[in-house]
Amino acid sequence: MSTSSLKSSLDSFSLDNPINSRSGKRSRLVHIEREDPQFAEVQQLFNKGWRHRKKDRPYVQTVFKVLWPNTVLEPYLQYRSEVESTVRARDRSGNEKLLFHGTNRACLLGEKPNNVLLCGLRECYLCSILRTSFDITKCGAKNTFKRFGHGIYTTVCSSKADDYSHSGAENVNFRVMLVSRVVLGKAYRRYRNAPDLIKPPSGYHSVAGETGWDLNYEETVCYDNDAIRPAYLVVYGEEPLVAMNFKAFISTMFKTPLAS
Ligand SMILES: [Zn+2]
Repeated sequence: MSTSSLKSSLDSFSLDNPINSRSGKRSRLVHIEREDPQFAEVQQLFNKGWRHRKKDRPYVQTVFKVLWPNTVLEPYLQYRSEVESTVRARDRSGNEKLLFHGTNRACLLGEKPNNVLLCGLRECYLCSILRTSFDITKCGAKNTFKRFGHGIYTTVCSSKADDYSHSGAENVNFRVMLVSRVVLGKAYRRYRNAPDLIKPPSGYHSVAGETGWDLNYEETVCYDNDAIRPAYLVVYGEEPLVAMNFKAFISTMFKTPLAS
């Protein structure tokens, strides 16, 4: 095994990492139990990132971890270490952040814990991204206006990513969004739109769209396919009835006054 593929195997999102080989099965999507600290981490990011006051915050139903073959992870880890060597020491791992991205789902991926097989539908951008990661040439196909140019858009704001999350299949109960590892490196802060950008300004690795002028909720754009890899899939929607607490259940049951 080469040094770089050995390094990739140690990455926590590698299919080859022993921590991911539960019961010998090797699936690209792994269902994370609610008790797992990774579930709490993703749920907290989602809840904290739900900033739109007019939209009720949904319930995080399920979280899947996204695993990758080393061939896909290697270029990302290589990019990350290159960026890391140029940014300040406090930005460890090249200023890597977990950020949200909403996209089209044409299948039922994630609807149930065992719905983990990627579909082959052309219009399912979700499965396409999960198969080979993001591809700038395909990004923004449905949105002609690109605020900060031609790149891959992610956000810390889950309620904003939710605006781009569409489920086209029938009998869908939930919505889904991706949580990706994004290497921001040195981010160029922009307050005004710059739709002609095809790369960050010299000396920078990404563009951070700041709120205030043209933007209500911050977003981040990277311009290199290897600056990003999906890490989790969040499935969310209405809170299930079974999660209703016992007190609320009893009060609903006995809403009708008892006869005296
Ligand atoms: Zn699909």
